[in-house]
Amino acid sequence: MYSEMRDAPEPLGTPGRALAVGAHPDDIEFGCGGTLARWAAAGCEVTMVVVTDGSKGSWDPAVDPSELAARRAAEQATAAAQIGASKVVQLDYVDGELEYSMELRRRICEQIRLAKPDVLLSHDPWKRYQIHPDHRATGLGAVDAMVAARDPLFFPEMGIDPHRPGAMLLWAADEPDHWEPIESSFDTKLDALLSHSSQGETTMGDAQASAEARNAFRERIHSWAVNNAASTDFDLAEAFKRLTP
Ligand SMILES: [Zn+2]
Repeated sequence: MYSEMRDAPEPLGTPGRALAVGAHPDDIEFGCGGTLARWAAAGCEVTMVVVTDGSKGSWDPAVDPSELAARRAAEQATAAAQIGASKVVQLDYVDGELEYSMELRRRICEQIRLAKPDVLLSHDPWKRYQIHPDHRATGLGAVDAMVAARDPLFFPEMGIDPHRPGAMLLWAADEPDHWEPIESSFDTKLDALLSHSSQGETTMGDAQASAEARNAFRERIHSWAVNNAASTDFDLAEAFKRLTP
């Protein structure tokens, strides 16, 4: 029996519903886009919650933040369609200025109770040396919202039934202990990332500008997935810390 055990635990079965909570447009695609795409292709109902408006995602000091936010919302809708997500919810906090608050916890809790996911996914708030404040606040907000969502005495004024997800997966995990294969959905993940064309310069090495840059970006995402899969039987994977709510 024990000789058959692998290094890595089994991936989850396809959930009926999954909810991913990301700080910015494109965070969900980087963190779990391949996993969501594979699940969606197998019939999972995927909801994406994007907490901030992405209005600081540019190196161009002349850019109009509200125009950038509108462009990024459109890019997010395209990426969501590629992944097969059925819904995108924008919470529209100002990019870069997100602070952990009871209101943030309540608003994510509301989305969990509405979507009733079997699996909840978000940033790992305990990732050491994570410097982006929005990533820390979103991850902590999502974990705390999960705790609130399952118990009826939290936010009873919401008037929505409590809901307890079966699993929570944290991406960019400090201590990953769970992996999901993405061989079948790697190209979809890449296409969804590339749909965030406003982010080409800042996070994708100008991948949309030339075939060479696109290939270099593909290679970067591919090696990341290969490294993630190192302790598993898969070729390509996304890595997570798994919490059991
Ligand atoms: Zn981000």
